[in-house]
Amino acid sequence: MFDTLSDRLTSVLQNLRGKGKLSDADIDATAREIRIALLEADVALPVVREFIAQIKQRAKGAEVSAALNPAQQVVKIVNEELVAILGGETRRLNLAKTPPTVIMLAGLQGSGKTTLAGKLATWLKKQGHTPLLVACDLQRPNAVTQLQVVGERAGVPTFAPEPGNGVGDPVDVARRAIDESRRAQHDVVVVDTAGRLGVDEELMRQAADIRDAVQPDETLFVVDAMIGQDAVTTAEAFRDGVGFTGVVLTKLDGDARGGAALSVRQVTGQPILFASNGEKLEDFDAFHPDRMAGRILGMGDMLTLIEQAEQAFDQEKAEQAAAKLGTGEMTLEDFLDQMLAVRKMGPIGNLLGMLPGAGQMKDQLAGVDDNHLDRLQAIIRGMTPAERADPKMINASRRQRIARGSGVAVREVNDLVNRFFEAKKMMQQMAGRFGFGGGPGGGK
Ligand code: GDP
Repeated sequence: MFDTLSDRLTSVLQNLRGKGKLSDADIDATAREIRIALLEADVALPVVREFIAQIKQRAKGAEVSAALNPAQQVVKIVNEELVAILGGETRRLNLAKTPPTVIMLAGLQGSGKTTLAGKLATWLKKQGHTPLLVACDLQRPNAVTQLQVVGERAGVPTFAPEPGNGVGDPVDVARRAIDESRRAQHDVVVVDTAGRLGVDEELMRQAADIRDAVQPDETLFVVDAMIGQDAVTTAEAFRDGVGFTGVVLTKLDGDARGGAALSVRQVTGQPILFASNGEKLEDFDAFHPDRMAGRILGMGDMLTLIEQAEQAFDQEKAEQAAAKLGTGEMTLEDFLDQMLAVRKMGPIGNLLGMLPGAGQMKDQLAGVDDNHLDRLQAIIRGMTPAERADPKMINASRRQRIARGSGVAVREVNDLVNRFFEAKKMMQQMAGRFGFGGGPGGGK
């Protein structure tokens, strides 16, 4: 998703590089190119208009920065405006002061609601909640079973009407589910509702009835990012028919142009809370406008990564580390520091996975959790300073000694050492690719 748009934006912005000064004509030409790129990517016209007007106004205005050259300045403005149309700040889920928090899912059939219920449950569980899924889609054959299956995979219970009771009344099911959640102490209730193939009144009325019965703290409009401009019209219909407090974009892993997804926030005025990018329960996360903008700009998460890295390390240390990584002088001690620092920035896999070309690095660090980090730390602490500085010297008998000393299996020491060498190789490749000096246009 967004690949073509990314490529277009990157090349438009790269054309500005090396210009000492940008004339109004340069800015107009750039704005025109960006406009075409956005329209081709299916971004809704009013959103494009507003975006372009902002870019022109800000780029021509006296927003001069001593730190940035004109091209960088434009990149920065485009990035900030992208962040703005995606919603600005990350909007977190609203939790009720008195549990249960009720989250209602609404959207067209096939938009990914049921799948999302499972993803959301998994995500909520990770945050320490005890969710209950509620099957209020009583129209589509198998919808209840599908939700139960998803619930089982996520390891959370599903509240559903008893079989054999006819079709059942979704409003009644929803009400009883809330009672059940109080009884069984579920602090979050996720209500899956029926979707239709198209927007119709019956669908809206039912969703509105369920809404009135359960008084949701959040109503999430689930929209398939692959449906193009229809995403915008559907969102408007749901906004007017049921109302919603947040948007979930699904199927961002698809290869559609994705511009419609970029328009939903601006058109409906409601923030995007989550994004789904695959069929597995883990392919899901809170939506961060700044990270998404960075990705669309075709610079991976470079912008965010640099910003967060600056906060996590002090500048000098970061420079030393980058220099070492680039020259291949990284030691195991640095490796540990890096892992601890990256860990502070959020889920490692997500962050690194968003860097173009860093897919393999993601594999390297996949499964590194706090517990695992503690063990890695113990292993590294069990090495002599000489071993840490020059891991090549860690032969079989040293590995056995280190394993004994740090209370782990030799296999774990082997794993760490191998992982280190692979990461080092990767870092050198990445350093070569991005120059680690930053600057625009470091993308794919
Ligand atoms: P519902 O009718 O709204 O409940 O939609 P479902 O949850 O049944 O999803 C419809 C189809 O989309 C299923 O085949 C899902 O596996 C698939 N799906 C859901 N979310 C995603 C996603 O983020 N990426 C991809 N590739 N497929 C998804």
